[in-house]
Amino acid sequence: MARRFNCRRVKIHRTYTIAEAAAILGAHKHTVSRWIAAGLPTIDDRRPLIIHGEDLRGFIDARRHKKQTCRPGEFFCLGCKAPRRPAGDMTDYILKTASRGLLRGICPICDGFIHRAASLSTIAQKAGAKILIGDDYSGVFRDAVQDDPLDHQVGCYGREFAFYGGMAGLSAADVLAWGTKNAGQLLMDAPGKVGVIESGAQADLIIVDGDPLADLTLLARPGQALKAVIRDGVFVIDRLPPVTKRRTELNRDLALNT
Ligand SMILES: [Zn+2]
Repeated sequence: MARRFNCRRVKIHRTYTIAEAAAILGAHKHTVSRWIAAGLPTIDDRRPLIIHGEDLRGFIDARRHKKQTCRPGEFFCLGCKAPRRPAGDMTDYILKTASRGLLRGICPICDGFIHRAASLSTIAQKAGAKILIGDDYSGVFRDAVQDDPLDHQVGCYGREFAFYGGMAGLSAADVLAWGTKNAGQLLMDAPGKVGVIESGAQADLIIVDGDPLADLTLLARPGQALKAVIRDGVFVIDRLPPVTKRRTELNRDLALNT
């Protein structure tokens, strides 16, 4: 059962950083961060994030009264202390950083604003947008975000796969498609000849040691995981075992199977 926090300690006319809110409630800082991700409003997106006492108290109060989870399409209304579907199924998207923000709708019961944290990429993917890997905002949050996975040299986008693949609502397969199938569909007229592995397609491939669907960080470690790059059917990088060894292994496997 979820732990109960005493919201009476929270002063409604004060503001709190995550650390201050955690200290006053005896909660872990990560717990407060999770509340923010789940819809606890902050006054803006500047660091350190500042929470208004009234919002904090309302949020904890709402959690305590009833543990109600929102179904898809529902937002938690702090006014009603209940999950609500936004009026008219309409929401605004309020950008907080380049990749994250809040969906804001209106509660059909109390007319108050209802919020839900959401990444732009997740919303776009669900709406069927063709997203590509390789965004160009590199360095914008260099001062605010430590070891920003999107702060890359132009052309080195390997870390983006794991970054986006870790977002709620996006799968490894979705994000891999951004760098393969989607790119192919956008570069070529249908039927695509790049971005797919099939007979008649252009043989542009990379080979990594491991399963990127299970571990997208492979793509951020080319020195270790990248075994081959094949362009137009020709090896540009070949770190695979020598062909003679491969043949030997193939013959051995065939021998074992007969
Ligand atoms: Zn409401």
